[in-house]
Formats: sequence, C-alpha cells, structure tokens
Amino acid sequence: MPHFLDDKGNIPTEMPKEARELASFLALVVDATTKKSPFSLTKTEIRCFKKGCQGLIKSEVLKESNEIHWVCSKCPNEGRISDWKLTKWDNR
Ligand SMILES: [Zn+2]
Repeated sequence: MPHFLDDKGNIPTEMPKEARELASFLALVVDATTKKSPFSLTKTEIRCFKKGCQGLIKSEVLKESNEIHWVCSKCPNEGRISDWKLTKWDNR
C-alpha cells in the first residue's frame, strides 16, 4: 500500500490514470474491510474495476499474514493488500 501514497499518505494526483484508479480501489477496499475486519469473505458495496464486470468485491483479513484479501463475485479478479495498517483508510 505505501508505495501508492505520497509522503502525506494521500494518493498522488500526478499518478497515471490507471494506477490512480487502482490506488483508489485499494483504498476503498481497505476502508470497507477495516470497518469490520472479517476473517471470512464478506460482501462490500465496491464494484469490481474490470471493464464490463458487474461484480461486487468480497474481502477478508487473512489471520496469518494480516493481509487484506479481496475477490470479485463474478470474475477471476482478486488480490491481496499488505501494509494497509495506519493508512488513512484503516478504520480499526
Ligand atoms: Zn469482476
């Protein structure tokens, strides 16, 4: 997570559009996931960023690595977010 952020913890405005969209997506996932910090895949209201995909994202906190794991409900899109703690989207 931190390598997306500037020294104030914000998403830099001069980032290329695609990278910025991905960074915003990851920020949303961290924000939604850390409200409840579920240890099993839980629905969020976040739309998958894949073009044409209508799926919603499910996410969980992985107990062992403390990464946030997210999957799309409709396509194979998935990923993990590490180092999200103490970013401004950490709601714990
Ligand atoms: Zn999808």
